[in-house]
Amino acid sequence: MTTDKAEELLAEVKLRRTRQRVDILTALINAKAPVNQAQIMESLGKSSPNKVTIYRVLESLIETGIVHQAYIQDRCAYYELGHNCTAQQCHPHFTCISCKETRCMKDVELPMAKSSDGFVIKHQQVRLEGLCPNCSQAVEGSTGNQAGTTNG
Ligand SMILES: [Zn+2]
Ligand SMILES: [Zn+2]
Ligand SMILES: [Zn+2]
Repeated sequence: MTTDKAEELLAEVKLRRTRQRVDILTALINAKAPVNQAQIMESLGKSSPNKVTIYRVLESLIETGIVHQAYIQDRCAYYELGHNCTAQQCHPHFTCISCKETRCMKDVELPMAKSSDGFVIKHQQVRLEGLCPNCSQAVEGSTGNQAGTTNG
């Protein structure tokens, strides 16, 4: 596993390079979807730091903005790199209410929320819920559509 990218990111934000930061950041870089603490631990295997250290490292990475807390599911926080978000808003995350899978919607941009009530909105993080393409097809199929000519 190559750690170049992680070291590069740490240098960019002038965060001291420690083995744990590099390892955890590399785990996030290699992950295809946001991961939680347990998944980070699992991907690092035997060399993984303990739970508390992982949280501490994540916190330092979040402070610099290279890592974002993407969402919370089942009381578990999921983390990802911040490079697919803007300073003002994170890309939304979509959770399917049927298969419970959560996905990043990197191509979706929502208008910033506005308040005329004295609230100054600095950051927006939106969570969407519904049916993923797989599940919405399954629902259509099972309810029997008008032209019931398919399926033997
Ligand atoms: Zn984000
Ligand atoms: Zn689904
Ligand atoms: Zn995401």
